[in-house]
Amino acid sequence: MRTTTGWSPGQHAAGHQDAAPDAELPVEPAASTDSFAVPGFDAVVRLVTRSLDVPLVALVLNSGAAYWFADGNEMPASGPRALHPLFLQAARSLAPHVVLDALDDVGLRDATPPLTAGPGPIRFFASEPVGTLTGQHIGALCVMDPQPRAALSESEQTALRDAATLIGTGVVLRSYLGRTDPITQLPHRYAFFDDLRKHLQDGEAHAWVMAIDVAPVQRFNAFVRAMGHAYADELMRAVAARALTWIPSDVHLYQVGATRFAAVLPDNHLLDDTARLDDLVERLRQPFDCLGIPLTIQPGVGLLKMNAAELRGGDPLRLVMNASYEAQQHPRGWTVYNRLQDEQQRQEFLLVTELAAALNEGEELDLHYQPRIDLDTGRCVALEALARWHHPTLGAIPPAHFVALAERAGLMHSLTQWVMERSVAQLAVWRRGGHDIKLSLNVSSTDLGADLVNRLRAVAERHKIGLDTLELEFTESTLMEHSALTRRHLTAIRQLGTGIAIDDFGTGYSNLAALRQMPATSLKIDQSFVRGMGTSPHDEAIVRSVAELARNMGFRVVVEGVETSNIYESVLGMACDEAQGFHIAHPLPSCDVPNWLKAHVGMPSRRAVRWAP
Ligand code: C2E
Ligand code: MG
Ligand code: MG
Repeated sequence: MRTTTGWSPGQHAAGHQDAAPDAELPVEPAASTDSFAVPGFDAVVRLVTRSLDVPLVALVLNSGAAYWFADGNEMPASGPRALHPLFLQAARSLAPHVVLDALDDVGLRDATPPLTAGPGPIRFFASEPVGTLTGQHIGALCVMDPQPRAALSESEQTALRDAATLIGTGVVLRSYLGRTDPITQLPHRYAFFDDLRKHLQDGEAHAWVMAIDVAPVQRFNAFVRAMGHAYADELMRAVAARALTWIPSDVHLYQVGATRFAAVLPDNHLLDDTARLDDLVERLRQPFDCLGIPLTIQPGVGLLKMNAAELRGGDPLRLVMNASYEAQQHPRGWTVYNRLQDEQQRQEFLLVTELAAALNEGEELDLHYQPRIDLDTGRCVALEALARWHHPTLGAIPPAHFVALAERAGLMHSLTQWVMERSVAQLAVWRRGGHDIKLSLNVSSTDLGADLVNRLRAVAERHKIGLDTLELEFTESTLMEHSALTRRHLTAIRQLGTGIAIDDFGTGYSNLAALRQMPATSLKIDQSFVRGMGTSPHDEAIVRSVAELARNMGFRVVVEGVETSNIYESVLGMACDEAQGFHIAHPLPSCDVPNWLKAHVGMPSRRAVRWAP
């Protein structure tokens, strides 16, 4: 083996400090001045030095941190240093690089700063990417020589590759043994639990557990898809570095998830100074420079105060994650764990699973039908199908609750399909039985896609009923969405002959221009106004005026929530076409509908009282 003089650590470090500012790199968040303690790392470096006969070896991480060895010996770490761009390029590349003689390369020869790693220039340079077994690319193993070379032999290439593989394996090993994250070098989850336990057992009555969520998972995944893992890794390092500027110097920051950090803060009245928490969020909301691209994150800081007893059998991270998740949606950006909210979320999660099962099996779900009366004739002209869920232990769950749940959990398509199938089959039976009635179905905004027309057509064909015997009820806010696409879907439904109702009108924010363009056929005035008619002259005025306006705009006007005979009489005197409400009938199970229809052939009507508003 060649012995080299002149490669002393001191000189080497000095050489790098001379590098140009544009080659400067973000500061490594943790352990930047420690030596790179990968098990067996020294041995691998000595092996490379010997088998390639090179004096200088470096492991350069894609964060910019570099660990240098001269003649097989580690040089003292000198903290974050500036590097020649060639090192960085190698560290962030997935391919090997070889420069046999830097003097032959115009770019390298004339570069400022010159490619040096000590007192003299580097002539020969070769690098091999280093990746962990889990597929993370962490940097490059570089070998250098002040002498040029003719070529790298096959066996030298293999030796370099093998050494890079061994280092990658060592990094993973270190992350298990040393409990550090290979990307940010922060201690990870197990270390967090150990330290939290120690903290609480060392006589501290309480501790605050803090979780910092970097971004909502979907947004982060989209970012990785668009930019790649190298950017994601860089972002995590930058966020960690930023968080460390806020965290007290004697407190550790842990990486406890792909996009989540945690810390254990002593109970020194954290909430007495909320401005300090605002300051943390403010810092994290400032843009990050991620490999030259400015990025902002959507941070959420969750806090949980706990004692040693609560640690036993509990999972503080799960709890505090709930708070950090919640905080992401919160303008303030930080929240304290709320047990009640957590319980609700757990319940919701369980309910979603059970709703999915109920939709599959169909046994716990049912439909009730509420009659709609034509005010001119007093006859029932339509039935509104309303979903019911009889939970085996919780009993009847209100549709407003489980419909919203289905919406959030992506189950709406299945729920609507189930309602359509069941109610249209039932309508076909009643119509064949001689009842000339229509069916109205509630559909949600997520149903309003291109396939709704096909689904409607298919179900009507299957049960041999005309599409004009159906009406779809959309809430006002769904219909007022001004997208050309929404309007196209609605027009396609209208072309089938199926009616469209604006449900709960008056609770949204429609304007008259939007209302005029709406391809709807009827407008259902929200029951809150109708129910209030008995006691509030304002509500009465609202119902009267809205009915007048809607009818003049060509809509069929339906009043919901008619609870008393007085209200029924009042709406008879208004520009309303149909009424629905408990005074007429509660929503009925399907078996009761034929009897109800037979018994209620005529409610009081305008024709009966010879009254035409
Ligand atoms: P909605 O479409 O406005 O249905 C009318 C609601 O008002 C029903 O509540 C009905 O039982 C209730 N109601 C009717 N008349 C009166 C009355 O005189 N007084 C009072 N206080 N209430 C009356 P329900 O069945 O609890 O449904 C609540 C909401 O859940 C529905 O409001 C609808 O938005 C939604 N929903 C129900 N079934 C379905 C469904 O199959 N699909 C979708 N997407 N939503 C549904
Ligand atoms: Mg409705
Ligand atoms: Mg309604």
